Amino acid sequence: MQPVVVQHPLAQCHLAAIRAQETPSHQFRRHLNLLARMLFLEATRELPLREIQVQTPLTQTSGARLERPVVFVPILRAGLGLLDGILPLMPDATVAHVGIKRNEETALPQSYYANLPANLGSADVFLLDPMLATGGSACEAARQLKAAGASRITMICVVSCPEGLAAMKRTHPDVPVFTAAIDQGLNEKCYIVPGLGDAGDRYFGT
Ligand code: URA
Repeated sequence: MQPVVVQHPLAQCHLAAIRAQETPSHQFRRHLNLLARMLFLEATRELPLREIQVQTPLTQTSGARLERPVVFVPILRAGLGLLDGILPLMPDATVAHVGIKRNEETALPQSYYANLPANLGSADVFLLDPMLATGGSACEAARQLKAAGASRITMICVVSCPEGLAAMKRTHPDVPVFTAAIDQGLNEKCYIVPGLGDAGDRYFGT
């Protein structure tokens, strides 16, 4: 599955703002939240609806609701920045969490926290991480979600790179990726170049 690059002009303006190193945390948060919202709108464009009847003050008419529940899964901690932007659009969604860090000895992704709901199998699941770098965390998170029953997973990331996209395609070819940019690649510290630096540090001001 090819990644979907959201090239809406407003999305590209928010992206430029979060890339800029002089953008302070409070502005970084605002731009990241809004960009996440735009990516989510694209990623949900094809969600199936169920027709319902609605009584207006004047008459009855038809309306719609989502066919399936939605579960958001931010990868801690930077994924919380995407969640903050998206959750107001769907305040009744379920929020799961996964914590994955890199094992410095093996360089492999290591899970340190998971809180997954029981309804993953019937839900549309959105995996949230602003940076798809090596793909290690995203692949491991998708593996955990599938092991817990998820079958419809979509990944939303702000900045991706060929290495991370290739890892996702190889390991989880059924998981579509929505992103605002495919950058050049990784540097020796596995940061995306040009990227935006450490997304968690910039979002949380650490
Ligand atoms: N995580 C980040 O926050 N930034 C990168 O460039 C890569 C991974």
